[in-house]
Amino acid sequence: MADLRDIYQEVILEHAKSPRNYRAIETQSKAEGYNPLCGDRCTVYVAMDGDKIQDVTFQGSGCAISRASASMMTQSMKGKTASEAEELFQSFHRMVTGQENNGEHKDMGRLEAFAGVSEFPARVKCATLAWHTLEAALHGDQKPVTTE
Ligand code: ZN
Repeated sequence: MADLRDIYQEVILEHAKSPRNYRAIETQSKAEGYNPLCGDRCTVYVAMDGDKIQDVTFQGSGCAISRASASMMTQSMKGKTASEAEELFQSFHRMVTGQENNGEHKDMGRLEAFAGVSEFPARVKCATLAWHTLEAALHGDQKPVTTE
């Protein structure tokens, strides 16, 4: 049995303590997310440059996993196109839900710190909240995102 402490890898703790890109930006592309299971809330702001994500930031409150995931998500998404962002989200989602990435091991870089989350189904929602919220921001969904 994996221990819950195992998922609190150093990189996660570090990002939870000092999240990157933690600010609001003036943009039409933003969305709110809420994970009622844990009480995590976040707002994700996206600035597009054509089809590219020029800047992505977030604000919110929640557990260490949700904050670290949002912080690392913003770092990973900068400079990506909307379709690359979608692809990365799918890979991340498969990793944290413990599914194979089309049978091959995809190099997720630092995001692999979240692989252990797959052992804790309730934590998957914390880890994916910001990602779902980013997707809503990219799609211009006005309705707040909830993981339930
Ligand atoms: Zn949480």
